[in-house]
Amino acid sequence: MNQPAVNSVPASFSDTSRALIDEDIRQQVSFSSAEAAGYSEPLLVMSEQRLRNNVRRFMQAMPRVRPHYAVKANSNPAILEIFRQEGTCFEIASSAELDALLALGVPAEEVFYSNPIKSPTAVKYAAAKGVRWYSVDSTEELEKIAAIAPQAKLYIRIEVSNEGSSWPLAGKFGASRAGIAAIIATALQYQLNLCGVTFHVGSQCTNINNWLEGIRSAKTIFEQMIAKGFTPELLNLGGGYPVQLTPADPTIEDIAAAINDELESLPESIQVMAEPGRYFVGSAGCLVSQVVGVATRDQSRWLYLDTGFYGGLMELEQGFALTLVSQRTGAAELWSLAGPTCDSIDVLGKHYLPATMQAEDLVFIPNMGAYSASCACDFNGFPVPKMLLVS
Ligand SMILES: *Cc1c(COP(=O)(O)O)cnc(C)c1O
Repeated sequence: MNQPAVNSVPASFSDTSRALIDEDIRQQVSFSSAEAAGYSEPLLVMSEQRLRNNVRRFMQAMPRVRPHYAVKANSNPAILEIFRQEGTCFEIASSAELDALLALGVPAEEVFYSNPIKSPTAVKYAAAKGVRWYSVDSTEELEKIAAIAPQAKLYIRIEVSNEGSSWPLAGKFGASRAGIAAIIATALQYQLNLCGVTFHVGSQCTNINNWLEGIRSAKTIFEQMIAKGFTPELLNLGGGYPVQLTPADPTIEDIAAAINDELESLPESIQVMAEPGRYFVGSAGCLVSQVVGVATRDQSRWLYLDTGFYGGLMELEQGFALTLVSQRTGAAELWSLAGPTCDSIDVLGKHYLPATMQAEDLVFIPNMGAYSASCACDFNGFPVPKMLLVS
């Protein structure tokens, strides 16, 4: 196995921090290459030890913050079971995610419904199963819940800056200042149990200030809630904790130090939780794919893999600083990467790989444990990655 030859890390970073990232990539390629012998289809190789380490590291860094794993990042039942054993709770967006947790014996009280817009059927189902906590960001959703589950505990999803995150969400969800006032007024009118605040800084967020800004806004909103007779109980810091893809990305300890500081002035009566998705699973998974063919078109070289936008590599198209590793050595070249389907969206940006790449070469893509297999479909007849859990 050659070293991950070229990646997107600028030369200005210190050799030590580069070496740490390179070592991490080397380890991921090493545990997945053992599984790739006799390759016949795309694989997502997940390391159980890394899954457990990620949870433990998160909990150790933020002792006051109870993690609720965001199931959508990777909903494989074996992974959910590992997190259950590690003592995490969960965050869901759908009835199917709830069913997956109930099947493992997770108590419904440990499952929080953080999708701000839920179908009436989904609310009815969750309430019947015993889910108590729901997120809201509009008066319409409050009215829906008032009619179906008036005893529910509600937390307002507020808007917060998504600057510096790779997948911003601002705009789609989150109540504005005026929206928050309207939600408080509506909760009062229907006598609903409004008792928490949440926000989501956007996924793979490397801007620590977004969490601090969210916590400060929450403190102000708690004051507003108290003034109207509500009793705040919950601060939910949402997701967004990044996988360290370059030495410039903050570690979970960097983020925790700032968050812990900001939490010091929060009353003890308020329980604090977070919803890590990517951080728990991202660095635990390496995707293994095979080259279908190469093509030279004028000056540009194209490399087609057997999995692509539809098959688990959606995030490559977003220009993530991911490193692709091949077993070949030699000078690298900037390839235009594409998936196997005939759709024009199935193009995955430009990436360095050896110039001599050929059909049937394997390509290893570390840090793909989140939002890869869980987002894949078999469009055009190409199989989704098969997940393998290794110790
Ligand atoms: C997706 C999602 C998360 C997880 O986000 P990550 O970036 O994977 O940590 C957490 N909370 C909510 C409400 C989400 O929609």
